[in-house]
Amino acid sequence: MKDPGIYCLLLRLPKGRRIRVAGRERDFAAGYYLYVGSAMNGLEARIRRHLSAEKKQHWHIDSLTRHAAIRRVFRYSTHSRSMECRLASRLAKRSHTTGIPGFGSSDCRCRTHLFHFQAKPDFNPFDLLRRTNAERVARILSDLYSGPRVCKSREPFRSLITCVISLRTKDEVTDPAGKRLFRLARTPAQMAALPPSRIAKTIYPAGFYREKARTIKNIAGILVANHGGRVPDNLDDLVALPGVGRKTANLVLGRAFSKPAICVDTHVHRISNRLGWVATDIPEETETALRHVLPEEHWIAINGLMVRHGQATCHPTSPKCSECAIAGDCLRDGVGRSR
Ligand code: SF4
Repeated sequence: MKDPGIYCLLLRLPKGRRIRVAGRERDFAAGYYLYVGSAMNGLEARIRRHLSAEKKQHWHIDSLTRHAAIRRVFRYSTHSRSMECRLASRLAKRSHTTGIPGFGSSDCRCRTHLFHFQAKPDFNPFDLLRRTNAERVARILSDLYSGPRVCKSREPFRSLITCVISLRTKDEVTDPAGKRLFRLARTPAQMAALPPSRIAKTIYPAGFYREKARTIKNIAGILVANHGGRVPDNLDDLVALPGVGRKTANLVLGRAFSKPAICVDTHVHRISNRLGWVATDIPEETETALRHVLPEEHWIAINGLMVRHGQATCHPTSPKCSECAIAGDCLRDGVGRSR
């Protein structure tokens, strides 16, 4: 199959008019129309055909495109024809939307794939689909895996320090190292009083243990000096701490303070792109894009779920797509070799 996918045409009809559709005169109100179609044998060719000045009469929608200007085309690459109907049903549920009967595709049971809007719709229709898809994937992964992987403590200081230890370190090393360290010092003041060499010896064999020991002592000192011995509960103050980036800060905000935050690490970045939720180059872009796609109720949990899925199934190279529980919802963008 050549570039299969679904598409949405945004049409504008400047004045209401009677239009003949399938041999019957019908009234169309002025305004905007969204039409959802699929092209499993060539998305770009189908779109070119809709945009062509030569107006052939082949599908019902051709009757409307003879009179209404195509203002915008939205594309969504997929092998799944059912996505077309899923998007149509999402559009049908939106407020200020009127379905125009008789424009479903020949092999589906939808009432219609054409919708009228009085005012220009200000959303990307495929974000509706991505949100539905993201919601379903998050629920499937929640059933498969539960709880976060690292930084299990909800106590802010412990959560923050465990995250620092966990960077480029396996869970089997991070968890015992954190426990040993917190047996020595439980508060920022106690931690700041420890010599870096003692911290380093305690968290060994965590990766970069000497560097992390200095960072941990510095963080503890800053918390005592500037934050009354407490971990700040906002992103700006957290990322101002040494060794704390957006990934760690978001994990602490979600985990310890229950604030809506998306922690994007390498697994979240990779899997979100493969799923087709986002098309981004760096984790910071992924975090921003995910805010539009992923319902807020899943922001905190998604990191733990995708980390586990990335470790178990969706490996960086050769993911196990044949046994993946979310394969039906995945576009597999950028996946070369798979098992
Ligand atoms: S189908 Fe493949 S690429 Fe998609 S999430 Fe599953 S393992 Fe990853």
